[in-house]
Amino acid sequence: MSGVGRSVVDAGAVAANVHAVRERLARVAPGRVVRLVAVTKGFGADAVRAAIDAGVLDIGESYVQELEQKLPAFATDELRWHMIGRLQRNKVRRVATSVHLWQSVDRMEVASEIARRAPGGSVLIQVNVSGEPNKAGCAPDEATALVAQAQGLGLDVRGLMTVGLAGAPELARPGFRLLSRLADDLGLAERSMGMSDDLEVAVEEGSTMVRVGRGLFGARP
Ligand SMILES: *Cc1c(COP(=O)(O)O)cnc(C)c1O
Repeated sequence: MSGVGRSVVDAGAVAANVHAVRERLARVAPGRVVRLVAVTKGFGADAVRAAIDAGVLDIGESYVQELEQKLPAFATDELRWHMIGRLQRNKVRRVATSVHLWQSVDRMEVASEIARRAPGGSVLIQVNVSGEPNKAGCAPDEATALVAQAQGLGLDVRGLMTVGLAGAPELARPGFRLLSRLADDLGLAERSMGMSDDLEVAVEEGSTMVRVGRGLFGARP
């Protein structure tokens, strides 16, 4: 995180990469609208600016502290911030009024803090579909209860989010399929799944939103 604000991003390269990612999305899902979230964690505000200039207004951040550092550089109406990283209850307040979509809600204490600091806020429930022990997300069989609890707190639960199994993209497919089925069962429209390497598989399995970092900005500093 020490590199925040000091990365140097080639805006022309970002624009070309945005175009390439949009082509990848169009190839697997012609005519379908899949939202592209540009993940700028580890990069400075210049990466956010390059994404906006390339027409990507959905920006994903993993760390509250990084988001706080970038916030002052942007007007609230020029982009939509997505929190995609593991949330600590005591940090929610610091960015509560700036976040458009909380994508990484995976436990009740975080849901209740968001409901307190950003009443009626829009959230996704993060589900660990791969069973990897170090991964964030509630267990698949906890998702139904957590969705109901978040709704009970007045939050606008728009869908589910997951990070695919690491490794070859095809390995992530069963997990993505499970997430789509869970969202179907719960009547939720959004499925945030797919990153730089596995976005095709995710979109084939019904993703409505992909979160792409390295594919737009290159390796993180
Ligand atoms: C970093 C991150 C991404 C983007 O990953 P890339 O491999 O750089 O595309 C997407 N989602 C989450 C939750 C992340 O932490």
